[in-house]
Amino acid sequence: MYDCIVIGAGLSGLIAARNLYRAGHTVLVIEAQERLGGRMYGQYLPSGQWIDKGGQWVGPTQDRFLALLDEYGVRRFSSPGDGQKVLIFEGKRYEFDGFFQGFPEGETPGVREEEWADAMQAWARFEALTKVFPPGHPTLNDHNRKLDSQTFTQWIEENTHTPFGNWYFSYMARAVGYLGPSEPNQVSLLHVLWGQHCAPQSEHPEAELLHGGAGQIPEKIAAELGEGIRLGEPVVGIAQSPTGITVQTTKGQFSGQFAIVAMPPHLAGRIIYDPPMPSLREQLTQRVPMGCCAKLLISYDRPFWREKGLAGIGLGNCQWIELCADSSDPETGVGVLATFVVGDRYKDWHVMSEENRRSAVLSDLAMYFGNEALSPATYDEVDWPGEPWVGGGYAAFMPPGVWTSYGEALTAPVGRIYWAGTEIADRWPGFFDGAVRTGESAAEAIINCF
Ligand SMILES: Cc1cc2nc3c(=O)[nH]c(=O)nc-3n(C[C@H](O)[C@H](O)[C@H](O)COP(=O)(O)OP(=O)(O)OC[C@H]3O[C@@H](n4cnc5c(N)ncnc54)[C@H](O)[C@@H]3O)c2cc1C
Repeated sequence: MYDCIVIGAGLSGLIAARNLYRAGHTVLVIEAQERLGGRMYGQYLPSGQWIDKGGQWVGPTQDRFLALLDEYGVRRFSSPGDGQKVLIFEGKRYEFDGFFQGFPEGETPGVREEEWADAMQAWARFEALTKVFPPGHPTLNDHNRKLDSQTFTQWIEENTHTPFGNWYFSYMARAVGYLGPSEPNQVSLLHVLWGQHCAPQSEHPEAELLHGGAGQIPEKIAAELGEGIRLGEPVVGIAQSPTGITVQTTKGQFSGQFAIVAMPPHLAGRIIYDPPMPSLREQLTQRVPMGCCAKLLISYDRPFWREKGLAGIGLGNCQWIELCADSSDPETGVGVLATFVVGDRYKDWHVMSEENRRSAVLSDLAMYFGNEALSPATYDEVDWPGEPWVGGGYAAFMPPGVWTSYGEALTAPVGRIYWAGTEIADRWPGFFDGAVRTGESAAEAIINCF
């Protein structure tokens, strides 16, 4: 009889388990995969350079994740960004200074003045709309209902009038953590605005990288939990009574006082609950899709782009690659580009042969940084939608109508079952920081029950 059984050994589940353990409780963590970490997942290349196949960046206001890094002595460095950035728009290539991630900072990147002005006037209106939210999840009121009845596409079409202005905001839906990524016609305007309020790009969530990568962290947290983790054992059912819970896995049965289900909502919804979940919760978990993205990590014997004065940061409406960033650790000397194939582009890309996928990605990178990009030392891809125990990435997002009809079921515990996972955070949802926060809150709620 454990005090708590934590289901899912991603960052949120590990933090919840660790905090309960530190508070003197008996804890068992059960994980479906043969490895820890979920979307926090990395590896070392033969060159000694690490790559993060899941999340990798951290920003200065992500204070719960930063505290964790400090506690475990994980050193950080500024994301490489010196030099000219590259924008490719409708086949034209521009080099410019400033303007990381496509959001307004630094100089105009060379597109026509009218197009840039269009994007900026829309950005000012967009920013104003993000200011009105109180702390916490979106509440039920007429204003939010109206926002939640629209897709982001509707807002983009009403507020921009040039192809660049339109692309600029559509790109945002495909680039930003809490937006899935989604295509803008899939996501609720309320979700976009609220997310930009509690996980704003203006707070630079990609400011820093970690020496050794984020993938090293799950093992560090798990070390404290000793034998209390079972890997390769999907949970299929949770039964609860007034006195406890029973967790059924593919290999056995375990009893506890409480459970924390620490995973994206759609996966939590696949577990069979006895008694069944309340209908609002059941409806919610049917409606929270994961973003659609593959992540590519491409390494070179050196960051060759710097020899040309380039920052290794590219964005634009290329056929496959809309965003690419230099992720080279200065301590290894190896060059690494991290990039993504996202949304509708992913749909066409993932069905190609391995060889064609690779050459599609490399030829887009060559447009950004030159032909040296065609000859990498290593090429790794992670097809996140194809990972059965995650089902997509970076995170889940809310389509229209979900926040205002079912949002209240996102965090509410059901009897002895509590929820964690970055998707339910109200600060930095979709990011590591959000995962840490929800793991901490779930553990605290259970500690308070004893
Ligand atoms: C490509 C990509 C890039 C990203 N980039 C960044 C970034 O740069 N910065 C940032 O802050 N964040 C980033 N993120 C997001 C970040 O990785 C996540 O927010 C965070 O890791 C989520 O942790 P979690 O514990 O909420 O969920 P998860 O990591 O998904 O953990 C859930 C765990 O539950 C397990 N599980 C599921 N079902 C069951 C079951 N039935 N039984 C047992 N176990 C089960 C899963 O196997 C998994 O291990 C990125 C994510 C991806 C995919």
